[in-house]
Amino acid sequence: MHEMAICESIMQVMEDQAKQQDFQHVSALRLEIGPFAGVELEALRFSFDVVTRGTLAEGCQLEVIETEARAWCLPCAKDFHVDERFDPCPDCGSYQMQVTAGEELRIKDMEVN
Ligand SMILES: [Zn+2]
Repeated sequence: MHEMAICESIMQVMEDQAKQQDFQHVSALRLEIGPFAGVELEALRFSFDVVTRGTLAEGCQLEVIETEARAWCLPCAKDFHVDERFDPCPDCGSYQMQVTAGEELRIKDMEVN
């Protein structure tokens, strides 16, 4: 389950930040996750609770912001919104496109005290 590994790296970031910025507790964390990040949200929330238990982020509220996926069509040279990774271009029907957004998984911000 790679959600566990994701939460462990998030935990690492929070610990590093705590040292650098001298805070004791993370009360809320906001994550931006794209639809193609390959993350199961239920599994992520479960892993987050497990990983943060007994740490500076114990009881931390996890807020997930789902971002929009976009792709770039090569024949049209246009950028458009996609729901599914292998959807064709809505203008020309081409499959020659590159996903430009939707695979991200990043910490947007956190509330600390
Ligand atoms: Zn097109």
